[in-house]
Amino acid sequence: AKMNGGGHYQFFTTEINDAISRKMMLETGLRKAVEREEIEIYYQPQVDVTTGNVNSFEALVRWNHPELGLIPPLDFIPLAEETKLIIPIGEWILSESCRQFLVWTEQGHSLKHISVNISAVQFQEPDFPQMVVKVIKDTGINPEHLDLELTESVIQNPDIAIPFMHQLKAMGVRLSLDDFGTGYSSLSYLKEFPLDTLKIDKSFTQTVLESEKDQAVVDTIIHMALKLNLNVIAEGVETDGQLQYLLGQKCHQYQGYLYSAPIPKEEIEGLLHKKRGW
Ligand code: C2E
Ligand code: CA
Ligand code: CA
Ligand code: CA
Repeated sequence: AKMNGGGHYQFFTTEINDAISRKMMLETGLRKAVEREEIEIYYQPQVDVTTGNVNSFEALVRWNHPELGLIPPLDFIPLAEETKLIIPIGEWILSESCRQFLVWTEQGHSLKHISVNISAVQFQEPDFPQMVVKVIKDTGINPEHLDLELTESVIQNPDIAIPFMHQLKAMGVRLSLDDFGTGYSSLSYLKEFPLDTLKIDKSFTQTVLESEKDQAVVDTIIHMALKLNLNVIAEGVETDGQLQYLLGQKCHQYQGYLYSAPIPKEEIEGLLHKKRGW
């Protein structure tokens, strides 16, 4: 432990201790975060490629930590999953997003749906479909206006996932496959799962103009979606060139910084006033 005069070892343990205490601090904080109203939802427009109209929004969670500031989801969702806190937090996100959707439609904005990310841990809870039913009843949202974004990891256990997906479809809820192209055996899923939408992962969109390989992936996903009668949406669109490419390939919708980053609900009205078509 005294290699290099000891400085190294000391540094190493301090780092581990810091990491452990940060994790403990986050876990303690996360338990209180919902009741302290520190969990916030940002919304990102989903835009029609052809018309430029906003069709819908995706809800993306943030944690506004009293000391650490705004924490992005990838820094706390894994912990929320590990501790199962994602179950109550995810239910809150779902119900809050549905309520916000109804506020916008009651203001006269015509939106097709609200998209909400569902964690694999949430989806594997035996009462997941009942939780969705409860949120739909409590908020009064039309189930056809609710779109659940699932990743392939959600579907690790197809024996549970497939019946759940059919239950949700029977209720009228929309289902999207998120990050499409980044997982495994995607093609067999496409046949078996009652999906409405494929989302092209931003790792493909962002390099579509530079890499012929990514172009091939993007083209293939779009054409396959069109053939299968699925809606297709590209995420991570940052440049007009990327948008023009998607238009050429007849991709239906896009999301990305080009139109808007995810923003708090208070800023949505202002954003839409600035743009045409609302
Ligand atoms: P995702 O569902 O694939 O969301 C897309 C991510 O790309 C979001 O990051 C969004 O802010 C970001 N993004 C959007 N447009 C652009 C762009 O043009 N360029 C770039 N570079 N990025 C863009 P965010 O909000 O940090 O979320 C990260 C991930 O965290 C999400 O990936 C999703 O897997 C997870 N997540 C977010 N909100 C929730 C939630 O409410 N529940 C669950 N279970 N997971 C969530
Ligand atoms: Ca998503
Ligand atoms: Ca993604
Ligand atoms: Ca993701």
